[in-house]
Amino acid sequence: MNGKSTTTAPIAMSRLKGKVAIITGGASGFGEMTAKVFVQQGAKVIIADVQDEKGISLCNEIISSSNNHAYGNNDDDDDGEFISYVHCNVSDETDVKNLIDLTISKHGKLDIMFNNAGIPGDLDPTIVGATSDNFNKVFNINVYGGFLGAKHAARVMIPRKSGVILFTASVASLVAGESPHAYTMSKHAIIGLMKNLCVEMGQYGIRVNAISPCGVSTPLLSNALGMDKESVDRLICESAVLKGVAPEALDVANAALFLASDEAKFVTGLNFVVDGGYSVTNPSFSMAVQNMFS
Ligand code: NAD
Repeated sequence: MNGKSTTTAPIAMSRLKGKVAIITGGASGFGEMTAKVFVQQGAKVIIADVQDEKGISLCNEIISSSNNHAYGNNDDDDDGEFISYVHCNVSDETDVKNLIDLTISKHGKLDIMFNNAGIPGDLDPTIVGATSDNFNKVFNINVYGGFLGAKHAARVMIPRKSGVILFTASVASLVAGESPHAYTMSKHAIIGLMKNLCVEMGQYGIRVNAISPCGVSTPLLSNALGMDKESVDRLICESAVLKGVAPEALDVANAALFLASDEAKFVTGLNFVVDGGYSVTNPSFSMAVQNMFS
């Protein structure tokens, strides 16, 4: 790394001024960073997660940063409620319906639905060792959770003929053999849903896109690999095509910001890959050649 690492800048900006956004899995990792960036950019954000303590403490952190002028969105905010937390298990339809209904009663509309919550599931990569329990768990959260989020967001976006639905997929939606079967399947499935929805929602002016990050040292990846952040960063940098920079949650948050903003008003049906070029190559042949001569 060469010092290109970034943090959220304490600058008042307004690329999402007046927008209302829900971020599932918003208490940690990509969702947490996206919540901060969206609020900085003027959005009213509802964090939806199952980690209640983390979600509430993130809200408090964002509110206190806002009071310290690190966020510029709430100067003319009349109710002061630009960030809130709702407990929501994305694979429970009652929870998801409740999340959307609460958002409408609080803010009157929903502009951005970011279906980001996800789990890696068991890391056992073999089909013979795979369990139904793990398969069901991964699909319930990663696929059915995104489906429910999209369904209930569409319910309130269609009458307004406006909105943006986003999903967090993964490079596992493009590259095979690097993630467990259930996870890889779930991320391919999300891209299928995103594309199908893009077609159905187009008539209502609703855009639907996905973001596919490579490995980033969020709690999800650190916990799955049983490694600290520094070791995960080192691994990711070693395997990267783009050298001199490590991927971070902010790169995903910035992709979400672009896709959620009006700057992307003609972008729909896109699987926006944020992977430093990881998915465009397959180094196995050149590695075999290198090994032969080393
Ligand atoms: P993370 O573990 O830091 O955050 C995920 C959040 O989702 C957590 O706060 C968790 O509590 C929440 N969550 C899990 N199950 C939930 C449920 N049933 N209902 C509501 N919330 C739930 O992980 P992250 O890396 O920020 O992951 C976010 C998304 O990015 C996931 O969909 C993941 O598959 C995807 N992704 C991660 C990476 C990576 O390397 N970190 C790479 C590609 C894609």
